[in-house]
Amino acid sequence: MTNKAVARILKETAALVELTGGNPYRARAFSNAARTLERLDEPVEALLERGELTRLRGIGDGLAGPIRDILTRGSFDLRDDLLGSLPPGLLDVLRVKGLGARRARQLWQSLGITSLPELEAAAEAGRLASLDGFGEKSQASILANTRLLRAYDTRRRYADALPHALHVLDRLRRVVPRAEIAGALRRKLETVDEAVFVAVAEAAALPGALNLPAETVRIDPDDPTTVHTRLADGLPARIRCVPAEAFGTAWWRETGSEAHVRAYEAAHGAPPPLSEETGVFERAGLAPIPPELREGADELEAAARGSLPTLITFEDLQGTLHNHSTYSDGAHSLRAMAEAARAMGLQYFGICDHSQSLKIAGGLSPQSVREQQAEIAALNEAFASDGGPAFRVFSGIEADILADGSLDYDDDTLARFDFVVASVHVGLDMTEDVATERVLRAIRHPATTILGHPTGRLLLSREGYPLDHARVIAACAEHGVAIELNANPYRLDLDWRWIREATRQGVLIAINPDAHSIDGLQDMRWGVEVARKGWLTPEQCLNARSLEAFSAWLDARRSARLTASPR
Ligand SMILES: [Zn+2]
Ligand SMILES: [Zn+2]
Repeated sequence: MTNKAVARILKETAALVELTGGNPYRARAFSNAARTLERLDEPVEALLERGELTRLRGIGDGLAGPIRDILTRGSFDLRDDLLGSLPPGLLDVLRVKGLGARRARQLWQSLGITSLPELEAAAEAGRLASLDGFGEKSQASILANTRLLRAYDTRRRYADALPHALHVLDRLRRVVPRAEIAGALRRKLETVDEAVFVAVAEAAALPGALNLPAETVRIDPDDPTTVHTRLADGLPARIRCVPAEAFGTAWWRETGSEAHVRAYEAAHGAPPPLSEETGVFERAGLAPIPPELREGADELEAAARGSLPTLITFEDLQGTLHNHSTYSDGAHSLRAMAEAARAMGLQYFGICDHSQSLKIAGGLSPQSVREQQAEIAALNEAFASDGGPAFRVFSGIEADILADGSLDYDDDTLARFDFVVASVHVGLDMTEDVATERVLRAIRHPATTILGHPTGRLLLSREGYPLDHARVIAACAEHGVAIELNANPYRLDLDWRWIREATRQGVLIAINPDAHSIDGLQDMRWGVEVARKGWLTPEQCLNARSLEAFSAWLDARRSARLTASPR
């Protein structure tokens, strides 16, 4: 179990203590211990083994026991008791942003609210506003956050749902001659509310063949060709059963989207049952349309003209930009990260640790920047002379966009970097005007090379700040700034729906893993998946350029920057 996971359980227990009206000092002791563990730079398990747990700040004998229990069995007695004694829906109420344990208790005690639906109904009816310490404004924000949370609960991030869906697919393929994933998962939407499969099978025989427990599977009462079940994570799943000779048409129809299917049928009529999906496009005189593009934009027209894009693939990527190391909040050293990128067959690695003001993430002082750049020079020398494939480390920085839109170093320090990713991390609660002006000012800074995670969104957990994408994209085009598609599966930000507008204006997209560990480098795969939804070609992707081409692009930018007048 990771330190973070242990800390999460301790924090949750602190909230439970407060929720049940327990001793506030006890609650604080749990949250303090959680904070200590979060900052710990070695596994808490190792400390436990050495018997050194109680040497940590804020962790006495009273907490060492619970932590040991969490590590061995995932919980401890007090937490079990609290969980066992509370209405289970209260845990969901605790997750509503901006509410807090104390006010959740108040709602429970005075209005009897023990679940999200009850909270939503009470807020809608205006029953919160009159309570002590609430008021109209906080009622409105609690209502909005409750609705968001309820919506999030019915969806999964693509990267989270996919492994579970592949597991079901694997089981299906063992018992039926043909089965495929369809629906939004096949279209690689960033979040999904259902997993859809198409199988050559008799629906009535499928539950028995799959050996699924009766209570987890049922045949649709209105459609005897459809079997309903759930993925291991609880996401509803639907298996459409068809004869082999109708598989292709069913697969196309179940892949959707609705808008795509409707547009096709309006133009070409409903396709007859066909065994192969390509037949659906052939009969209409269309090039086969990749599933990612079937969103009902103009993909049918492009297929008719023969002008569908050659979509980017993971293999097209030649380098990785925007990665963290132990210089800031990464888990692995600069050298280890760079070597891992080289082992992946990439030609270059951009280090982009956090800048100085982001203290919670170990932002680099100008002095640390100089030390890191000395290490990069030494690494590059070593890479150049070790007989291996050409490989280079570029010195980048993830410069915070400060509240006024300025970047987080003076111009001299900024000029020392090969490239700068400018990102907003702090003060995300902004109106669209404020956010847009802040980001626009950063784009206009001559040092900015790439705009990082443009809206700061975290899928299914935090909405991004509102941003005037059209103006931001136009400014990037004007100033030759690339836009990041942050490939972390929680972010996938720039949203793929804006990629075509960006590339139409000549803005390059950088598919950046924002890796905080060696494993994180693999996140570029998720970025590629959604980039394809945005019709991205390798030519339009900054880090699909070869080492030589990328270096030349940076050099050209640098000389353009030198002639540009400082703001
Ligand atoms: Zn960031
Ligand atoms: Zn980052």
